[in-house]
Amino acid sequence: MGPRFHELGVQQRSMPKVWFHFLGGAREVGNVGCTIETHGTNRILIDYGLAASRPPRYPSPSPHVNNAIITHAHIDHIGMAPWLVGHHNAKLHATPLVADLSGIMWRDTYKVSSIEGYPLTWDKRDIDDALDSWQTHDHGEAFELDGWDCTLHLAGHVPGASMIELRKEDLTILWTGDIDTRNSPNVLGAKPLKCDILVMEATYAARDHNDRSEEEKRLVERVQEIRSRGGTAIIPSFASGRGQDIIKILYENDPSLNVHYDGMGTRISQIWMDNPSYLSDPSAFERAYRWSKRVRGKSDRFKALEADVIVTTSGMLDGGPAIWYLNRLRHDSANAILLTGYQADRSGGRSLLDTGMLPIFGKMTKIDLEIDKFDLSNHAGKTELIQFALDCKPKHLVLFHTPDDDVDDFARSFGEAPPFQIIIPQNGRDTVIDTDA
Ligand SMILES: [Zn+2]
Ligand SMILES: [Zn+2]
Repeated sequence: MGPRFHELGVQQRSMPKVWFHFLGGAREVGNVGCTIETHGTNRILIDYGLAASRPPRYPSPSPHVNNAIITHAHIDHIGMAPWLVGHHNAKLHATPLVADLSGIMWRDTYKVSSIEGYPLTWDKRDIDDALDSWQTHDHGEAFELDGWDCTLHLAGHVPGASMIELRKEDLTILWTGDIDTRNSPNVLGAKPLKCDILVMEATYAARDHNDRSEEEKRLVERVQEIRSRGGTAIIPSFASGRGQDIIKILYENDPSLNVHYDGMGTRISQIWMDNPSYLSDPSAFERAYRWSKRVRGKSDRFKALEADVIVTTSGMLDGGPAIWYLNRLRHDSANAILLTGYQADRSGGRSLLDTGMLPIFGKMTKIDLEIDKFDLSNHAGKTELIQFALDCKPKHLVLFHTPDDDVDDFARSFGEAPPFQIIIPQNGRDTVIDTDA
């Protein structure tokens, strides 16, 4: 048996082509949905979200699929899943924590779209069907779906978030979802995995993060300074991830602080504690959560006005209790607003940064408070993404969930002769990868 015969044998077994079709999430951040198929498998859908911009953006309608794998419970990855179940009766697959968080996320999306008058192509009944359609899988547990051998892996980012490994004979695809390779307050970082095709998010295609522990230290010092002058720090925070990180950072650095925690994040925290295996240190998180003073109603809210710190939604000052607090606290210049996340175009937080004004109950209002920004992102930065891609040793790298303006430069950062083919897909077009190439 000569080498030629052997090569021929390999060729017959190998899967020469893989089809990706991005319904959304190519050359944009969020709005993710992508079908994948190869010879001998059915088409499978990964994520089905929307982009919570103003107005929101939605992915194209999904073709028929039996199954969708959901990386995590952020709205840009999960927001349109009720439509998928309503239209195609698809089964949804994720970790148990993502399944448990989904109902609260969908109900909030429904509520926000009704308040803001944005169209949504699914209704409340679809939420119930979607909740019934979950099949859950722990990290590291293998399962078979539509001809694929699937395994979910730790993605960092937020507790319960997964990278998805899809295998078909000698082909391995790794879909990162949203990843962070660094450890963060509540979850460990993602580890690279050897694969043939790496489909990687690149939210931070253009930028490195400040050192996380330095930023945490700076946040605590700023809060202490505001307390010492008799003020309250309002920290608007995303409900799913950032708020919990801040509670833990404050508790572990200065338990003498009087910290009140309001909004949807408190309910999400309880669901985290019901799924402790997805937290890096569940008992430490629980201690921090019990230490914070949870706001449960109107009278608690008035008490919180005397706090050192109020951690609350929405993270981009687009509504939620944050606006109520800001309206009460904006007249005393001892108070301050500490922003800890990305502020999208046309969000309240963006308007505040650019003009010093933001809408409060519909009225543009000047805010004369100290404003500071902290980089506590749960996405890998540029350097980490490059290292992760190299460490996975793929033959093909597909970049998605990335700003349109930054992705081409990012692709060039792998040099003149990158060690893999780099593909930047477009929404609504087939991306065909020849795995023999
Ligand atoms: Zn995302
Ligand atoms: Zn996310």
